[in-house]
Amino acid sequence: ENNILEINNLHVSFDTFNGEVKAVRGVDLKLKKGEALAIVGESGSGKSVTSKSIMQLNPKPAARIKTGEIKFEGKDLAKYTDKQMESIRGKEISMIFQDPMTSLNPTMTIGKQIMEGLIKHQNMAKTQAKQRAVELLNLVGIPNAETRVKQYPHQFSGGMRQRVVIAIALACNPKVLIADEPTTALDVTIQAQILELMKNLQSEGDTSIILITHDLGVVANMAQRVAVMYGGKVVEVGTVDEIFYQPKHPYTWGLLSSMPRLHEKQDGLATIPGTPPDLADPPKGCPFAARCPYAMKVCTEHMPEHLEVSDTQTAACWLLDERAPETEPPETIKS
Ligand code: SF4
Ligand code: MG
Repeated sequence: ENNILEINNLHVSFDTFNGEVKAVRGVDLKLKKGEALAIVGESGSGKSVTSKSIMQLNPKPAARIKTGEIKFEGKDLAKYTDKQMESIRGKEISMIFQDPMTSLNPTMTIGKQIMEGLIKHQNMAKTQAKQRAVELLNLVGIPNAETRVKQYPHQFSGGMRQRVVIAIALACNPKVLIADEPTTALDVTIQAQILELMKNLQSEGDTSIILITHDLGVVANMAQRVAVMYGGKVVEVGTVDEIFYQPKHPYTWGLLSSMPRLHEKQDGLATIPGTPPDLADPPKGCPFAARCPYAMKVCTEHMPEHLEVSDTQTAACWLLDERAPETEPPETIKS
């Protein structure tokens, strides 16, 4: 099996005062061994919820996986209990968040925080774990690691803290690293260094990466494949080249600001007028229909299926379907 992770028909909902919010609505994603897959889309598209589902890190009990599979090496993590997840989190699969302070304990030395996972998951002795902590700090490019392990998070700069978070995430050689906007809070120079670091780890080790970002420059630099999410669904998947040079979904066009009708401004999402769908009351058809300049009648009434564009690219849009455009959906697709 070539895939380290396979998400099938994942549905995740949140219970809120406004009722059930269907944050993720039937997501299919595959992560190949050793690849970096980027998930892009604006906030509320379901990218963070999808990735947190893998680790069961969405807030309980408000969030629940309604249906679907999250297959990791043949095991379905969607069915794992909290207890079972402990053997996965930080060991087999690690996650890096946008703000390093939220994942660091301010009252504990950096060294202790790195050692925790090593002692817990790798059964390392204390001295051995301490040595490994120094090695890891070196690996992520923190100078004077011997001294640094004894210091506390507040003694580190933002960029250094994110390196520490990455060191912790990598401590147990995870098979999958999920990075949710890992460089958003950092300045451009540090951002480039962190990305370089992640790239090296991916090419040297056999770590597969899921990278969640809204920064297409980061995608081009880091990923081999891209999944575009909108309204709780994956609307297009392809290689980086396919998504950048031959995108097929109007939302992806908007995302890349290459929509032919929108010549006014060139700053990405701002060029798509309108707002994302309300997932407390999601549209029954294409989630992008309300903002799509190409929307047809069929779009608002029926959900488009993913159609193969190439061996590596699919998109869910009626424009690709030979049964459209039709003013009325043909009999075969009425549900
Ligand atoms: Fe636009 Fe219709 Fe395609 Fe949705 S299915 S992106 S509304 S053309
Ligand atoms: Mg997010």
